[in-house]
Amino acid sequence: MQELYVYNSLNGKKEKFTSITPDYVGMYVCGPTVYSNVHLGNCRTFISFDLIYRYLKHLGYKVRYVRNITDAGHLENDADVGEDRIAKKARLEQIEPMEVVQRYTVDFHQTLEKLNTLPPSIEPTATGHIIEQIEIIKDILAKGFAYEVNGSVYFDVLKFNDVHNYGKLSGRKVEDLIHNTRELDGQSDKRNPQDFALWKKAEAQHIMRWPSPWSDGFPGWHLECTAMSSKYLGEQFDIHGGGMDLKFPHHECEIAQAEAVNSTSPVNYWLHANMLTLNGKKMAKSTGNNILPDEMFSGKNDIFTTPFSPEVTRFFLLQAHYRSIVDLSEAALVASEKGFQRLAEAIDTLEKLDTSTETKGFDYPQWKKKCYAAMNDDFNSPLLIAHLFDVVKFINGVRNEGLSISDSDKDALQSKMHEFTNDVLGLKMQVAAVEDKNQHALKGTVNMLIELRNQARSNRDFSTSDAIRDQLVALGIQLKDGKDGTTFSI
Ligand code: AMP
Ligand code: ZN
Repeated sequence: MQELYVYNSLNGKKEKFTSITPDYVGMYVCGPTVYSNVHLGNCRTFISFDLIYRYLKHLGYKVRYVRNITDAGHLENDADVGEDRIAKKARLEQIEPMEVVQRYTVDFHQTLEKLNTLPPSIEPTATGHIIEQIEIIKDILAKGFAYEVNGSVYFDVLKFNDVHNYGKLSGRKVEDLIHNTRELDGQSDKRNPQDFALWKKAEAQHIMRWPSPWSDGFPGWHLECTAMSSKYLGEQFDIHGGGMDLKFPHHECEIAQAEAVNSTSPVNYWLHANMLTLNGKKMAKSTGNNILPDEMFSGKNDIFTTPFSPEVTRFFLLQAHYRSIVDLSEAALVASEKGFQRLAEAIDTLEKLDTSTETKGFDYPQWKKKCYAAMNDDFNSPLLIAHLFDVVKFINGVRNEGLSISDSDKDALQSKMHEFTNDVLGLKMQVAAVEDKNQHALKGTVNMLIELRNQARSNRDFSTSDAIRDQLVALGIQLKDGKDGTTFSI
């Protein structure tokens, strides 16, 4: 197994990755709250963990990848008040909450499939694990780290912090939290503002409710991930991931809940993906500052002048390290599109390249080492992609500048390129190559017809030239005569 280093948010250091069980990795990633379509920011986080999942598998680990669906208990303002996001949508649209859940779960799956992410090994839902959540609450109450008030149960952060360390992931100190949180307004059942709900009693109008020893109510958002991760991965597992914005309070509370029950830290490596921004601001469902993947793929949006395919979008996102912020811009996407096509063309050319007795101008073992070194350094996909472009340069060198490749190096390079592009980065290179060929053939054909039309016009054969133009229009291809000749658009 290769030596892999990962950046652990728990201590802010890159650490050598050692799995609890040899050759096996348990990985949990917080999934979407299914009350609206996933935007491209959400997709970035799921693509980041898809890369990590793919690379771990590529290294030979057996991975159990659990990614949940949040379909209950995530309240509007992320605190412990307000309406459940799904119930609110159901009320506004006058449909069942489970219809909301189904609609946006389907959208989530379809979108992630277009972006070529692999399905997780298990995809549990919060509503399917109410019993497990109730059991954990009973346990936390029994251990004395929670209290019941009026049918709701809250986690006692101060009491927990006396024995454990609340804030170890986000670096926050309970004293500062006390200082910085608003005083309770007298309406709240909580003893302290930093306490968080494990179970909430449902108000009369709250539709999503389940019976429990405390009240008809619903579980707190943080609890579902503790219940599902421990059920499927055990009390202690290797990797827990999610977007940076989940570090606090969501993941901090997960740690507290699990430690309250088991007295041990639940996760060895906490990995957080950084945000996708649009116009310099975080892309978010709630603010409207977002673009939906389908709007991007179809070109039906007010942000970009042209559509970008799912392959190009994925390539663009992987050209940044998962821990850096990425801003979505047309110029960067256009550059990615060009780069992606160059890469696809080069892979196609490599297949047809004539071989020589020896390789000149390329050190295959050295190159392979550099590629693995990049990925072993906290999944550095932009650096891996830069090394893939060294191959593009070399292939052009073989074609035009007297460099050469041996038979065995060609075989090895071809299969490694395939592994890195298709298996690790999850890029559908064949699709890109076919699309590129189709585009090329289409452009050549239309230009040939433009040439025939020009000849007909100079022979004053206007019935032929008009027929060519009209038939192209019937196929959805518009000709435009300008001073630099005729161009076309589709
Ligand atoms: P949500 O459905 O809002 O709970 O988010 C699902 C996942 O997407 C979580 O892991 C979030 O951290 C992540 N996420 C939300 N907004 C963004 C963004 N702008 N960029 C990257 N990831 C995001
Ligand atoms: Zn979670």
